[in-house]
Amino acid sequence: MGYTEEYRHALENPESYWAEQAKAISWYKDPQTILQETEQGTFCWYPDGELNSCYLAVDKQVEEGRGEQVALYYDSPSTQTKEAITYNDLQQRVSRFAGAMKGLGVEKGDRVVIYMPMIPEAAVAMLACARLGAIHSVVFGGFAANELAIRIDDATPKLILTASCGIEFDKKIAYKPLVDKAVELAAHKPSHTVVCQRSVLTAEMNPARDLDWHEFQKDAEPADCVAVKGSDPLYVLYTSGTTGQPKGIVRDNGGHAVALRYAFNNVYGMKAGDVWWGASDIGWVVGHSFIVYGPLMGGGSAIFYEGKPIRSPDAGAFWRVIEEYKVNSMFCAPTAYRAIRKEDPTGALSKDYDLSSLRWVFVAGEKLDSSTFHWLNELLQVPVIDHWWQTETGWPMTSPMMGWDNPSEARLGSTNKPIPGYDIRVLDGDGGEMEANETGNICVKLPLPPGVAWSIWNQPQRYIDSYLEAFPGYYHTGDGGFKDDDGYIYITGRTDDVINVSGHRLSTGEMEEVVSAHPAVAECAVIGANDSLKGQVPVGLIVLKAGEDIDEVQLEKELVERVRGEVGALACFRKAVVVERLPKTRSGKILRAILRKIAANETYKMPSTIDDETILPEIEDILKERGLV
Ligand code: AMP
Repeated sequence: MGYTEEYRHALENPESYWAEQAKAISWYKDPQTILQETEQGTFCWYPDGELNSCYLAVDKQVEEGRGEQVALYYDSPSTQTKEAITYNDLQQRVSRFAGAMKGLGVEKGDRVVIYMPMIPEAAVAMLACARLGAIHSVVFGGFAANELAIRIDDATPKLILTASCGIEFDKKIAYKPLVDKAVELAAHKPSHTVVCQRSVLTAEMNPARDLDWHEFQKDAEPADCVAVKGSDPLYVLYTSGTTGQPKGIVRDNGGHAVALRYAFNNVYGMKAGDVWWGASDIGWVVGHSFIVYGPLMGGGSAIFYEGKPIRSPDAGAFWRVIEEYKVNSMFCAPTAYRAIRKEDPTGALSKDYDLSSLRWVFVAGEKLDSSTFHWLNELLQVPVIDHWWQTETGWPMTSPMMGWDNPSEARLGSTNKPIPGYDIRVLDGDGGEMEANETGNICVKLPLPPGVAWSIWNQPQRYIDSYLEAFPGYYHTGDGGFKDDDGYIYITGRTDDVINVSGHRLSTGEMEEVVSAHPAVAECAVIGANDSLKGQVPVGLIVLKAGEDIDEVQLEKELVERVRGEVGALACFRKAVVVERLPKTRSGKILRAILRKIAANETYKMPSTIDDETILPEIEDILKERGLV
């Protein structure tokens, strides 16, 4: 297949292109309508088709003769547990678990919140929801009770599924008390919490509300797959926006299934029977698309890894997994490799393992710096492929098509070319198209291809406001960057108040809310400073209330504790700097865009709207003094 023809076909006749791709999956009822404009002016694919995502990921694979093939390899250096779960096993587990949830009244359209570590029960839970047509909302286990409560109130789930604990290196993190606290904080009260007890730490149960994972499904009748419409939601996944209120990204069933199948085969170049490793967590979009649904819908064997790149037990953990399961290709954020390189700079540990099964490795989630790229390329001697996407899109927007002949070559600093279906344009502030090599706002001309979210849970208008309003006719990605003369895309970073810590997207607004609630703080701005390991880390610029004489070290300690307690450890908020004042416009708005530039060590132009020009060098000096820029 040739990229140029495929790209052109998808661009010139998207309906015919994606009608063709939809044939690769099995529908209970083929879609008659391929593309439909919704009431809000967004676009939805295959609205009247009928299908079931769990059927495609599990039952269909069994029907096609893959029952004895391993669907999931669970590998947990954290607990020294390994399990090889075949498609047959998975079908049994999922249908029984779905039957048990059905027994509790969970039906099509109901929400179920999943707050679980990387244990196979979490995948079973997701698939069981999909089987019933219920909508799962997985919340990453690093989020604190308060954040979980916000998501519970937004998703209003019938049930919460959790485990007694998660594990971070050798530390057990009790999940159950955290879930209890979240339920206490939330206005919405789910009827039950189903708890998977782990032998490393058992949770106390409240008999009035809690159900034991194994007990509650012991006598359950296996449930069949329920047909849903292509436009019906499969899941809601919360991601950080620019305000404290997270955005519930809604993923539909139809477009998602077609897009993932297309991506697994064509973008990632994987076939049924191949071993694929999405080295991430089910709490993130990668976990949804390329730990669970994508590889299973494509008949692959997926690695389900509960560990870290380092200290699991050492920095050779990734290489051990590749050798042991003969991984053909994998995906992770560059930060994982930076962590490995820090521990094992020459990559000596990799020499102990046979990595010959690897065809190529993908990275995304944050910028791939050139030194990590070169280090990895030399070490593995296979193509290292940078590609780009977001929670909202659910699958890549730019990448070489590894499943096709002559995939486009890597170009350092670029996340490669647009994938068919994505008409990527670089626009200036007024919506005019930029010349090649000029940096602007990266946008995608509508319609977006299948699989990309087209609504926000409970707040459809917020979707329009967040993504479609700034540049009419285009989806605004929130990333800045440029195209080169050959159409390769370069991502330079976010143009909004979202930062990227170790490949995790976090809202600085969310942290600002926590920081400003401290009694000593008059106002604050949280910005992302460059970090050689994590990409970015948040730094709080704090203006104290008049007359406040709290010690700066004490204040920092208290703020760090607050952010850890209310947002979660994943925020990595460790630095708070007291400043005299923050730069503002004459109308009183904090000039965050400029602060971002200062933090990123970029040159900036003094904005004409600034109230007092002396503030910026003042802040720059303080940050330099503290070694933060
Ligand atoms: P998330 O929704 O959490 O997956 O974060 C998406 C954001 O991560 C994007 O909008 C980009 O800012 C950033 N990102 C993802 N992939 C890349 C990449 N390959 N290079 C640079 N930034 C990336």
